[in-house]
Amino acid sequence: MTATPERTRLTWDYSPAPESADHVRLRDAYGVFVDGEFADPRSGRAAPTVNPATEQEIAQIAVAGEEDIAHAVQTARAAQAKWAALPALERGKYLFRIARLMQERARELAIVETMDGGKPIRESRDIDIPLAAAHFFHYAGWADKLAYGLAGRAHRPHGVVAQIVPWNFPLLMAAWKLAPALACGNAAILKPAETTPLTALLLAEICQEAELPPGVVSILPGDGATGAALVRAEGISKVAFTGSTAVGKNIQAALAGRDVGLTLELGGKSANIVFEDASIDQAVEGIVQGIFFNQGHVCCAGSRLLVQESVAEQVEAKLWERMQKLRLGDPLDKNTDVGAVNSGEQLERIETLVAAGEDEGATRRTVACDLPERGHWFAPTLFTEVSPVHRIAVEEIFGPVVSMLTFRTQAEAIEKANNSKYGLAAGIWTDKGGKAFEVASQLQAGVVWQNTYNHFDPTAAFGGYKESGFGREGGAAGLRPYVRIS
Ligand code: NDP
Repeated sequence: MTATPERTRLTWDYSPAPESADHVRLRDAYGVFVDGEFADPRSGRAAPTVNPATEQEIAQIAVAGEEDIAHAVQTARAAQAKWAALPALERGKYLFRIARLMQERARELAIVETMDGGKPIRESRDIDIPLAAAHFFHYAGWADKLAYGLAGRAHRPHGVVAQIVPWNFPLLMAAWKLAPALACGNAAILKPAETTPLTALLLAEICQEAELPPGVVSILPGDGATGAALVRAEGISKVAFTGSTAVGKNIQAALAGRDVGLTLELGGKSANIVFEDASIDQAVEGIVQGIFFNQGHVCCAGSRLLVQESVAEQVEAKLWERMQKLRLGDPLDKNTDVGAVNSGEQLERIETLVAAGEDEGATRRTVACDLPERGHWFAPTLFTEVSPVHRIAVEEIFGPVVSMLTFRTQAEAIEKANNSKYGLAAGIWTDKGGKAFEVASQLQAGVVWQNTYNHFDPTAAFGGYKESGFGREGGAAGLRPYVRIS
């Protein structure tokens, strides 16, 4: 018998494949978008937005103050009555137009999202922007079918809704908020995050191109103080917030005793559970997708990895091998898997929690890679020997860091997964459909994925339990927070 010749191990390097930003035409400065027009802020204040991968300023952005907010509320109230009075089919057509224009400008939006936020172009191009457009398409379809989405109950819009979004999915979060609000007949005032305002401002241009009636959408860039002032503003009827649990609690306190609706989408420490009967290679891909997608800046990131003891060694070995193949670097390069951390402040938070993990005795492994000289970077990191009381198993790190714990039985997996003040999402990896349903029904998590992770769709509801917030976004369930049932 002749021996099979040994196969040659092939290794190769990727050539750089940077997406060109040459055709992107950004202004040097952006004002506030109120009454269908860009204007200088009445506050007289502005701050730069910076590319986190290069630390270079991209543009000067208005910081809206109380006078800007009062002006936006006044024009939004005037516009809302007419908007709600439009035939529902006509409202839907405007949303449809916005969705189409987002698709037409998709490449530009993806590049700007990546420049402003640091996420890999592959993700902004293939996930953020297409999903943002898909949300507008989805709610365009709901506009004239609200009765079906609301079980036939009589309903009316809130009026003017204030919407505050974070920096991790800037345009997508804006779409999650604006599309259902407008479909239900509300006018909206959106405050993007201070570090990532640009795509919301391009969306304002799209609203102009779509000839959306002035005042139906206002965009007020600014900082935390702008957000706090917007929450306190007279004349708003609802607040929808996505961000940290701490700020969510402040907002809830600020609204106590006021007749203002509230939905909160807050933080998480989601469990990704791997059972011994799972397809291990598939699970390892899912773990990587669950925690390293968007540098781990994901509220539902699978940051607590729970692996059945019998396969723990195998999963750990395969995960570590796979992690070493992740490519960290220029977010505009199409080969990049892990981009820049959104800000120096966020990098400090990640470093503090990682140091706490080491101090408390967990074993840290960080992928060795050359970090670019400028910008904010953190290489993919795996913690093992983690105890459920360690800070890295309890607190949201919001970075590319996964903490691995083990379990022996299904009951222990459920107990450990639910042992968190959060309850946003979970993943279950198993070959057995029955087991997946049984476990899912006992998990305190708003979303449970089976044999996949971080899978989003505009038709599916998303939201939390416990300190991960309340209210649902997406699908028919996403209509309910934007109407009052009479
Ligand atoms: P924040 O909660 O501070 O920010 C979210 C949004 O709220 C931003 O637009 C922010 O403005 C605004 N904001 C800040 N303070 C107030 C306030 N008092 N009243 C009203 N609005 C306010 O999140 P951070 O950006 O500081 O991130 C901190 C942590 O929050 C992260 O490490 C992560 O753990 C978590 N987080 C969770 C997110 C999620 O999707 N669930 C998203 C982002 C963060 P500005 O940006 O201008 O400060």
